[in-house]
Amino acid sequence: MISYSFVGEKGKMDALVVPVFEDKKFDTLVKDLNDLHEGLFDDVKKLKDFEAKAKQMTLLYTQDKVVPRILLVGMGKKKSMNVRLWKQLVGQSVVTLQGKKLQKIGYVLPVDVVKMFGAKKLGVETTVAIEAANYAFDSHKTKDARVKSLKNVLFASDMDGRQKKQFLVGHKNGLSIAEGVNLVRFLGNTPPTVMTPTYLAKESEKVAKKHKKMKIKVLSRPDMKRLGMGCLLGVSQGSQHEPKFIILEYSGGKKGDKPSVLVGKGITFDSGGLSLKPGAYMSDMKFDMLGAATVLGTIHVAAALGIKKNIVGLMPSCENMPSGTAYRPDDILTAMNGKSVLIDNTDAEGRLILADALSYATMKLKPKEVIDFATLTGACMVALGNERSGVFSHNDKIVERLDSASKEIGEQLWRLPLGLEYSEAVKCEIADIKNLGQVGGRGFGGASTAAAFLEFFTKHPKSGDEIYPWAHIDLSSCYWGGKGKPWVRGGANGFGVQTMIEYLS
Ligand SMILES: [Zn+2]
Repeated sequence: MISYSFVGEKGKMDALVVPVFEDKKFDTLVKDLNDLHEGLFDDVKKLKDFEAKAKQMTLLYTQDKVVPRILLVGMGKKKSMNVRLWKQLVGQSVVTLQGKKLQKIGYVLPVDVVKMFGAKKLGVETTVAIEAANYAFDSHKTKDARVKSLKNVLFASDMDGRQKKQFLVGHKNGLSIAEGVNLVRFLGNTPPTVMTPTYLAKESEKVAKKHKKMKIKVLSRPDMKRLGMGCLLGVSQGSQHEPKFIILEYSGGKKGDKPSVLVGKGITFDSGGLSLKPGAYMSDMKFDMLGAATVLGTIHVAAALGIKKNIVGLMPSCENMPSGTAYRPDDILTAMNGKSVLIDNTDAEGRLILADALSYATMKLKPKEVIDFATLTGACMVALGNERSGVFSHNDKIVERLDSASKEIGEQLWRLPLGLEYSEAVKCEIADIKNLGQVGGRGFGGASTAAAFLEFFTKHPKSGDEIYPWAHIDLSSCYWGGKGKPWVRGGANGFGVQTMIEYLS
């Protein structure tokens, strides 16, 4: 746990982070520091080592006992500053100073940035960025080899008393959000021998216990059989681990208010099943439960912040393994809504377990809206790279709201299409639908045909009418930063939690 405060009289620290714009004079706080150190920053800028371009950083040693090091951080041009860049700068400075094993750092909050975001928002975003950068999944390493966690963060600013109060409100919310984000990362990073459907259910129960307005129900195989969840049962039958269907209910809204339903794919390891993945594509498949983790993390934060909404989280969870009992290509499974699915490829399993979860939402809940999260397709990653997630919906309003929520907090979404050609691609002669489709060639349009498959289960089973607004977020492109980025370590990155909190608030 990091302890936070404003810089007081005795502000002794290991290093002070000083962000400066490329095209603006130093503000008063930075100017005072510069004067104190006899024009040190001016000298550095003259040497052209450091032009304050965005993400340029340089560490200065000051011979000062109170602040022995200053990390000058370039913010680039003022007009280009935004939340996303600010969080990256904060994160990058934390990771940089941790590389030097420093644990007590100060942070100058520039006047212009306070003005730009407002004190409260600056409190939220700065805190989320610090906590995210401070997180490392290294408990499996020997103690000495682990990242040294920050102990103290001191904020230095010219804010007045009222602004400081707002900043602290934001900071407190930021801590709750970061807790949810880092929970998602912990769950995603945990190895698949530990992270089984049962473990995920236990972790969900732990979250539910923390909040008064939360209830949890975990369905096991007999319940799934009773409900007719043939797709989830089918995918899980090759694994020695029991499948779980986790239902988390948060009642923050009025009694009787229709819930926002969040659905998340929880495949705790995806080998591809009998349609086995090639070795190179099988590593990182522990992350295939991040849709479910995102739902859990989001509801945890929503409850901590007391968001006045009813929210139901549905997390179907199982493991996709090859074995003598595994489901096969050519099998026909029947989903909870009575529709049959021909299995074309057992590696397209995520959409199958979501089919039962979406059917559950359609048949058992009266959703205000349904949004699902899934590390669903490699095709989405090919389309967007790893800093954007794909969003699919017929509902322009949901897409606009999700898009503006993500921009507000510095994450990125991009709308990809649904449409008749994708829906027709998953039609099938011998079952109601098949689990793989292509438009124009092998693998073509894979992200959209997967979304079209899911869409099928959001409709009224008899009439085929749309009965609630639905959006699907394909996380596969964006759930991690590959080997990590300068502002966040590798592994799961918790993408989506803060966007959803912004969306729900
Ligand atoms: Zn798969």
